Amino acid sequence: MVTAVSAAHHSDQNLRILVIDRNARSEVGKKTVSGWVCGDAVSKNSLEYLASKLGIRYGSPEVEHAVHGVVAYSPDHSSKAVFDGEGYVLNRKLLPQKQMNDAERLGVEFRYEASAEGLHAEGGGIRGVHCRSTRDNSTFNLTAKLVVDATGSASRLRTGLPIESFIEKEIDKDNDMESTGRYILKFDVGERDPTFFDQDYCIIHLDQEIAPGGYAWVFPKGENKVNIGLGVQKRVLDARNRRMGRRDNLQSLIDEYVRRNPVIKNWRLADGDEDKGNAKGSWQVPVRRQNDCMVADGYMIIGDAAWMPRPVDAGGIGPTVYASVIAGSVIAEALEAADTTERGLWKFNTEYVRTYGYRMASFEILRRFLQTLSNEDLNYGMKHFLGEDDVESITRREHPEFERVAFGSPARILWALPRLALARGLRYTAMKSRKLIQHYMNYPSSPDGFPEWQSKFRAELREAYTRFSGSRTST
Ligand SMILES: Cc1cc2nc3c(=O)[nH]c(=O)nc-3n(C[C@H](O)[C@H](O)[C@H](O)COP(=O)(O)OP(=O)(O)OC[C@H]3O[C@@H](n4cnc5c(N)ncnc54)[C@H](O)[C@@H]3O)c2cc1C
Repeated sequence: MVTAVSAAHHSDQNLRILVIDRNARSEVGKKTVSGWVCGDAVSKNSLEYLASKLGIRYGSPEVEHAVHGVVAYSPDHSSKAVFDGEGYVLNRKLLPQKQMNDAERLGVEFRYEASAEGLHAEGGGIRGVHCRSTRDNSTFNLTAKLVVDATGSASRLRTGLPIESFIEKEIDKDNDMESTGRYILKFDVGERDPTFFDQDYCIIHLDQEIAPGGYAWVFPKGENKVNIGLGVQKRVLDARNRRMGRRDNLQSLIDEYVRRNPVIKNWRLADGDEDKGNAKGSWQVPVRRQNDCMVADGYMIIGDAAWMPRPVDAGGIGPTVYASVIAGSVIAEALEAADTTERGLWKFNTEYVRTYGYRMASFEILRRFLQTLSNEDLNYGMKHFLGEDDVESITRREHPEFERVAFGSPARILWALPRLALARGLRYTAMKSRKLIQHYMNYPSSPDGFPEWQSKFRAELREAYTRFSGSRTST
């Protein structure tokens, strides 16, 4: 919807923009039957970007709670890294209502209870969508000069793209998709322990036993209200279950995580109107770099459909806000120039990579490395290897340099010796990160240079995948 708002905002002409959603108007933006499933956290920077570019401001009730930043704890809770970026915890059920009102004010039209089932191709380009009514199952077709696919991580439009293009259709589900789930709870405060609940900070728990291959979170929504959940990678979870002789799944892990929290007592599912139908749910999040190409003739992908969430923390709202603002401006320009070909839309790739996407491959490699670590590695690494500069880099959403493992002096080598493989892995991710960011800086300015660019990019990535494939760095 933000893309539609941005396109309407950027156009001098009267563009006809139609948003199709498979939900009824009262439930617009609902991801799955289990609700608007999300951790609900977003940085203040992202919302300020939206306000500065489009004049759109979010406030109560779609913004539920403000925080000073994010704190990540090591598995033993003895080390913490405080990322001091201010942020908000949203109400994702109410947010789409606000976005819908903003869009309607700018003349955007809506068609509810309409599921986009497939793309209509003609002359090598996309010219519309085949739809089915979710109310009475009737089918109908819509034509358009451009179809923007914002149907989320399960996009069937992208996987069924019926034309030749550079867009990758399938994600590597074993390596690049996280299963995530969460509750929105009201509770009585038990013990006071800010490592488990802090009204002023979003808490992240790194723990390969509780959230194998992902992380767990406690995001405050008020004094007695919380969004609490976790994400796992199935392959890492299976390995953890084999190692521990357990048969845990996503839901049993979430329940165990809630049970172990000493602050959250006598909990009940949040059941006010603003949370009804949204207090318990799970869904999948892509955690790789964005699709290497996001446009084709008459077609564009954005948000989870384009695999935009940041690979290390699965945060997808921020990247999508930036992408939507950029996409809207490119769309308005392309429609006004009557050129919605791959070439006419290419600027979306270059502008998004330049503005936000250039660090995503490096985060993908960091994420793959972190997934190889044991809890002991994480405890040691956070205590001895994570410096203030690294924390500042992460706050700025940049890749950390891990200067403490640069092996520049005998003292540094002594720090690293007990966990040499860990130190080497961190050094390698920092080196690879620089190369990948450099490669993104050379992202081709037109489709012509793309095959060569992508082939070199993939070779860089393959080398890192091989290095981190499966095994742990140390015992
Ligand atoms: C458990 C969990 C926790 C998360 N926590 C955070 C967090 O704290 N912060 C953060 O930034 N990100 C978080 N994310 C990621 C974030 O939720 C997503 O990145 C974001 O919602 C993506 O938005 P989107 O519009 O691309 O897709 P979605 O939010 O999935 O919206 C897709 C829309 O398209 C509709 N749709 C789907 N298919 C069709 C179709 N065929 N026809 C018509 N309509 C269709 C859906 O019904 C829905 O309305 C989390 C995700 C999960 C699952």
